[in-house]
Amino acid sequence: MPSFVINEKCDGCKALDKTACQHICPNDLMVLDKESMKAFNQAPEMCWECYSCVKICPVQAVEVRGYADFVPMGANVTPLCSSDSIMWTVKFRNGMLKRFKFPIRTTSEGEAVPEGGYATGTEDLKSDLLATEPESSGMAEIPKVK
Ligand code: SF4
Ligand code: SF4
Repeated sequence: MPSFVINEKCDGCKALDKTACQHICPNDLMVLDKESMKAFNQAPEMCWECYSCVKICPVQAVEVRGYADFVPMGANVTPLCSSDSIMWTVKFRNGMLKRFKFPIRTTSEGEAVPEGGYATGTEDLKSDLLATEPESSGMAEIPKVK
């Protein structure tokens, strides 16, 4: 089921230029109603259910009904992101709560090195090499199929 916004929780990201859910949606589905300052999914049928908006919303106002293979029917899942982990709270239909916390990064925030520290390789668009090759492959050069 596509994402939906719980109006009572949404604060419109406190009137920032672009809300968090607008910023993160890979499909540009989330929009903000400037009058009510509530966000909504403008084309639910296009939603990939990728959970990006669910995870980034600072007030847990976006929900996607979890797939049955990881959330039992009638339960809901709410993520809470921190700088190094994400905690999922699963609320079962009998009221039972379970929480699962996972690390989400191996480097601290702002410390990631673009391209993994490798040279970006050739800028020749006709080259067979991918960015960072051959250095990142561990080989002096990429063998070619003849
Ligand atoms: Fe966009 Fe993904 Fe949220 Fe759907 S679940 S509205 S595709 S960010
Ligand atoms: Fe509302 Fe959350 Fe979207 Fe911000 S990220 S506009 S609080 S739904």
